[in-house]
Amino acid sequence: MLRAAVAEGSELGRAADDHIRAGRLVPDPLVLEVLRDRLQRPEAARGFVLDGFPRNLAQAEALDRLTTLDAVVYFDILPREIVDRLSGRRVCPSCGTVYNVLTSPPRAAGRCDRDGEELQQRPDDRPEAIRVRLQVYEEQTAPLLDHYRRRGLLRSLDASGTAAVVADRLRKLLAAGRDVPSG
Ligand SMILES: [Zn+2]
Repeated sequence: MLRAAVAEGSELGRAADDHIRAGRLVPDPLVLEVLRDRLQRPEAARGFVLDGFPRNLAQAEALDRLTTLDAVVYFDILPREIVDRLSGRRVCPSCGTVYNVLTSPPRAAGRCDRDGEELQQRPDDRPEAIRVRLQVYEEQTAPLLDHYRRRGLLRSLDASGTAAVVADRLRKLLAAGRDVPSG
């Protein structure tokens, strides 16, 4: 969401980019401004998926005031597998294609299949940064599980296995959710 706003070059996007470039977290009020803006657009009218947001209780409470969610999906996975996935991730700086040296490597090592560009590792995917991210998750994001469980919105998804397998489980979980009678 923030990356899209930055790519768009809007006033909000530029403000967020200043923080990202400086290595700072984008402040909650600015994140919520970006979110409010996007939820009001026509493409959000048929529904939307928030990925990586909210990340803390303050954001979750602000989101509760902004909109109503149908479901919150918890991707349940062992920390070791998270580290493997993140540390293996490589991104093409030119076209944005995402690879993983362990699970979905490019045909030629270190090169994008589409344009031959040299693949890069995001600074926050390096092992020392991943340890910090997991710690921040435990302290700030994990409490959201209780927040959404209490509201009856939380669905737990076994996120082990390939992307295709997990996507299939996710589709089934969301489809089953619609069949559950309310009340
Ligand atoms: Zn590429």
